[in-house]
Amino acid sequence: MKIKLYNTLSRNIEDFVPQAPGHVSLYTCGPTVYNYAHIGNLRAYIFSDILKRVLLYNGLEVNHIMNLTDIDDKTIRDSQKAGQTLKEFTEFYTKEFYTDRDALNILPATKYTKATDYIKEMVTMIETLLEKNYAYKENDGSVYFDIKKFPEYGKLSHIDMNEQKENASGRIKKDEYEKENAQDFALWKAWDENDGDVFWDPSTTLGTSTSLSKGRPGWHIECSAMSIANLGETIDIHTGGIDNMFPHHENEIAQSECATGKTFANYFMHNEHLLVDGKKMSKSAGNFYTLRDIVAKGYNPIAFRYLALQNSYRTPLNFTFDSLDGAQSALKKMYNIFLKLGAEYGNINKNYEDEFITAINSDLGVSQALGIAWKMLGDESVSKADKKATILKFDEVFGLGLLNVNKIEIPDEIIKLKEEREYARSQKNWASSDEIRIIIEEKGYKVIDSDSISTIEKI
Ligand code: AMP
Ligand code: ZN
Repeated sequence: MKIKLYNTLSRNIEDFVPQAPGHVSLYTCGPTVYNYAHIGNLRAYIFSDILKRVLLYNGLEVNHIMNLTDIDDKTIRDSQKAGQTLKEFTEFYTKEFYTDRDALNILPATKYTKATDYIKEMVTMIETLLEKNYAYKENDGSVYFDIKKFPEYGKLSHIDMNEQKENASGRIKKDEYEKENAQDFALWKAWDENDGDVFWDPSTTLGTSTSLSKGRPGWHIECSAMSIANLGETIDIHTGGIDNMFPHHENEIAQSECATGKTFANYFMHNEHLLVDGKKMSKSAGNFYTLRDIVAKGYNPIAFRYLALQNSYRTPLNFTFDSLDGAQSALKKMYNIFLKLGAEYGNINKNYEDEFITAINSDLGVSQALGIAWKMLGDESVSKADKKATILKFDEVFGLGLLNVNKIEIPDEIIKLKEEREYARSQKNWASSDEIRIIIEEKGYKVIDSDSISTIEKI
């Protein structure tokens, strides 16, 4: 069945056709590792995870690259504040990012690429752009991309060059700016004292012939270089949050297409923002929660994943604790139903699976797919064993961790009681075994004995 995806380039839902049948190259703009990810950032990674899981469900192989921005304006600024080297500082937050990823059941990328490992590729690309006259050098040694030289500039974010702010200087050195301020952007930033000891001197250290002076790359060239180095000049899908569309992805397209003469990415997909009181959740606005914050309030991280699944990735999502409560109770209900389905696996229910595939292949309709899953779980004409097989298959896309639900739901205390009871049974101490069974039941769990093993379910 065809997969339909919304392509930001065309602003249309299109049939997804990978370049090589059966294989997908996917690049996701990953975290800037200068702090803990907030749950808005994590919505972006849940979105790319769902996309990947849908592609995998359809039998496609996915080569997924996610970058780690470990050099940019923010990582330099905050590592200096913390009194740490850039490497120490960014490695700490990279580890924390992996912890969040695992807590949210986000499948690991095929490869994580650190920007600082690709300086040579960036320098080579900048040299190509200089040679082809798409870029120019400023007096201080910084190199800028000349947006006038690329007539297609703005094709992703649909910028109107007539709506530009007056008095724009014509070139911009910082990494982030507004759409009304489209200007020549920095590919290479000559060292200044704010950079401290963070710089590369490409002509002496990279073993490549270059005219670039001591400095560091701009943010945008990082993703172009890492995408091309790992996935080739044209990739199938590039993802990120909607704020990445301009300037980041617009600039990635410009510099990549001018350097290679090829289309950079056939599909661009963007998730809408997570909002708080109607405003984008962001570190700079200070209106953010990390995953740790919500876990400290007693939520299961997967409740946040469930909340993200309940909402289309293309709709802004206003975050409230009421909605997280709702997601958490729906998740618990699903876990409890699952636990009561018994040990036997039946067959995947074909009718429900067809409905499910139609939903997920319609531009990642996971909230509809959740509705189908609930309908199936409540359908008395489907046996428990078939329900079990079907919901576990659907969970390959949802990623709610149903297979591990026993481990998640049964507290250590109950497991300990179960073990004590098993010992009592092995000693044929039936009185003690019955006593423990009652204690377990009083705590809200049920013991199911079969010949050789006993299992625990939630009552
Ligand atoms: P950053 O670490 O700032 O580079 O952001 C990482 C990812 O999170 C990017 O894809 C951003 O577009 C995305 N992002 C940032 N803020 C939000 C938000 N409030 N809601 C959803 N995605 C976001
Ligand atoms: Zn990027």
